Amino acid sequence: MSDNFYSNIINGKSVPAASGKTLPITNPATGKSLGTVAASSAPDVDAAVKAARAALDGKWGRTAPSQRTKLLFKAAQLIEQRADELARAETANNGKVLLHALGEIRQAIEDFEFFAGAATKVGGSTPPTHGAFFGYTVKEPVGVVAAITPWNFPLMLESWKLAPALAAGCTVVLKPSELTPITANLLVGILHEAGISEGVVNVVHGLGEEAGAALVEHPSVDKISFTGGTDTGRRIMQNAAKTMKRLTLELGGKSPAIVCDDAIFDDAVLGSLFAIFYGGGQACEARGRIYIHDSLYDKYVEAFVAKANQLRVGDPLDKTTHIGPLISPERIKLMESFVESAKKDGGKILTGGHRLAEGNLARGNFFAPTVIADLPHTSRCVQEEIFGPIAVLSKWSTDDEVIAKANDSIYGLAALVWTQNVTRAQKFSRLLKAGTVAINTTATALPGLPFGGFKQSGFGREMALETLESYLETKTVITGVLGKPQNPFGI
Ligand code: NAD
Repeated sequence: MSDNFYSNIINGKSVPAASGKTLPITNPATGKSLGTVAASSAPDVDAAVKAARAALDGKWGRTAPSQRTKLLFKAAQLIEQRADELARAETANNGKVLLHALGEIRQAIEDFEFFAGAATKVGGSTPPTHGAFFGYTVKEPVGVVAAITPWNFPLMLESWKLAPALAAGCTVVLKPSELTPITANLLVGILHEAGISEGVVNVVHGLGEEAGAALVEHPSVDKISFTGGTDTGRRIMQNAAKTMKRLTLELGGKSPAIVCDDAIFDDAVLGSLFAIFYGGGQACEARGRIYIHDSLYDKYVEAFVAKANQLRVGDPLDKTTHIGPLISPERIKLMESFVESAKKDGGKILTGGHRLAEGNLARGNFFAPTVIADLPHTSRCVQEEIFGPIAVLSKWSTDDEVIAKANDSIYGLAALVWTQNVTRAQKFSRLLKAGTVAINTTATALPGLPFGGFKQSGFGREMALETLESYLETKTVITGVLGKPQNPFGI
């Protein structure tokens, strides 16, 4: 195998898929090959799950929480030491600009630190009960966890799952996206270097329908923590039902940004621009529906389009670049189909709407930041998750109207409100149906604050103390304390 072969990691060992099959890995900015990755199937998944089960039943299952704290802090330190290398690998494989890749690695470090601290704060309770009994609860790891992750924030989302699972005492089989497998192997190497023993975290690479589906079906996997598309989440939920697996599903979104007439104008323009175009719109929380109060609509549209035209799309390693490529050529075709459907629906393409292919850009999957106005609420671009650099601008006049429009979506992941009126901010935060409502900030995911969706954006929360609960089972222990002879049938 060449140096650029990314293997599975099972029981601490690098192993190819049993079938010997591989998949290509491509740099989306240059179209160049980055090597190949194992294309795993059921036998590889079975070996990884067995390794995770053996680790759980072995030494790892008996580690003290304080020991897990030390290991996770050590992992955070090692990630920090290698942040630059990890960010560069992420940029090469995903195409995100280097500065953003670094920011996401920093967030992964904070996740490991947060759950390192949380590992020793887990405990049961002693609820009051009938006097003849003494009852208490203990928290136990849920077991073997399958972590299935997407390509848009590879290492960061893997950390969202690995850190709480390990803090809770679980073992893990990670199935990264087949498009972005590289940093997963680096991360698991770091976990081993930190002292987390073999078999505790395993990696199986490969296609979702093959390696991912085999994990979901495997009877010895207790929980699935999945981040990805809503349709995939639905399939996983159906397949997981057969063995009644515990589920955390972080799925798609179609999030709104609401600009009120009392907003700080420049913040509402520049912040909303970032909230849709960060990562080229390839973010589950991308706030692609921008609702602007009619009193400032024309001025806002002019300013927003002018700023969108200033966004530099290109080489993600260039420090002056704002937006890198889309992940794959198929995404370009998808963006073009969204633009065509918007035109059919009577929408005005105010800027962009096409692939960028001048000079070096021709080798990668670059798409112009696109702003569309005058679309009906029923339009595909308003209703469907685009997952690309397309913003849709719409007008509103009353709070009730915009809240109704913002909520009229199958999704409910993140909402953003620009207003200086604290009462209005509280009203919007109360009435918007989303897992996160941000007021006057583009932030959506901060370690310690739960992140997750309402409606078809999924269920379960990541990054917070309640996340830890989702990697635990509660066991109730009841003791008879009166010391009486036991003969409940009276025979
Ligand atoms: P995807 O659903 O195609 O794939 C996600 C992962 O699931 C990949 O590892 C894939 O191989 C695997 N998979 C695919 N089919 C499977 C199956 N039948 N069984 C088991 N595993 C399977 O998603 P994607 O294209 O990689 O990522 C984009 C999607 O992820 C978007 O919809 C986005 O909104 C969502 N996302 C959500 C969040 C969140 O926190 N809510 C965060 C990031 C991305």
